[in-house]
Amino acid sequence: MTIKIGIPRSLLFYNFIPFWKTFFEGIGAEVVTSGRTNKAILQDGLRLSVDEACLPVKVAFGHVEHLKDRADYIFIPRLVSVFPREYICPKFLGFPDMVRQNVRGLPGVIDTSINMYRRERDLYGQFFEIGSRICGNPFKIALAIKKAGEEMKRFTARVESGLRPDRAYGPGSPEETPDRRKNATVAVLGHPYNIYDSFINISLLKRLEDAGINVLTTDNVPEKEVNYYVSSLNKKLFWTLGRRMVGAAYHFLESPGISGIIHVASFACGPDSMTGELIERRARRTGDKPYLSLTLDEHTGEAGIVTRIEAFLDMVGMNRQSARC
Ligand code: SF4
Repeated sequence: MTIKIGIPRSLLFYNFIPFWKTFFEGIGAEVVTSGRTNKAILQDGLRLSVDEACLPVKVAFGHVEHLKDRADYIFIPRLVSVFPREYICPKFLGFPDMVRQNVRGLPGVIDTSINMYRRERDLYGQFFEIGSRICGNPFKIALAIKKAGEEMKRFTARVESGLRPDRAYGPGSPEETPDRRKNATVAVLGHPYNIYDSFINISLLKRLEDAGINVLTTDNVPEKEVNYYVSSLNKKLFWTLGRRMVGAAYHFLESPGISGIIHVASFACGPDSMTGELIERRARRTGDKPYLSLTLDEHTGEAGIVTRIEAFLDMVGMNRQSARC
């Protein structure tokens, strides 16, 4: 019987699903994922998590709850570091323990530590350990890791060419990057679980696209470009997502093709408050692009978000008109 691995559609799902899925399928498992976030998932997340958690973590609890009866194992890696000499938010590190503590009736949990702090190639051993729990054939595991790495490279190239991660992988993903020359382009910056989860962000990307706006996000900026821009900071940013967000923001602020910037943050998120401040200061100093900061939690109302987006888009429109005069 094929073993089913459940992968919650939350936290770093949007960044690493190509690697995870290819790997598990390569060792002969079937991958099942939770559906898109909805009200029921949020309600379960709120019930199971602590009040102090940020919204993405609360939502992640809901995804585990909705997946637990459909899989033999739930994959909740203990994410420590996904980039050499950098860390990921400590909430990721403790998430598997919080889930074990609060979610009843779990199947097996695969919570192997993913820690690339010392060097990138440590990832091989960590996935080899995961594979050994499910598959007895070391050659098959090694091949699955190799294929997953290749799939991840293809995915990264597609995203860096301008596709959104949630569109760059899986059936129906477009073959080519959209032509962005005709309309205004707005950069949306934030953690992937805030930007690509349309329930969390109250359909922000869809609202922008429906208004005829092209959208680029943090993930579309190549690593080299991000590093070039953060090298101007006095101090190294040691949180991977924060570094990427700040580097992408500085890049977009200097890009003539970008007509405005939206920064999406989670309420009560320490890293977001710092990166948000860095981005806002630079945006104020550069001063020529409309800037909107949105902070999300479970109480965020649709009406407030819609009004602010509309006001932002008016500013984008006025800026473009005055640039044409
Ligand atoms: S970085 Fe912020 S939003 Fe992300 S998990 Fe940590 S506290 Fe939550």
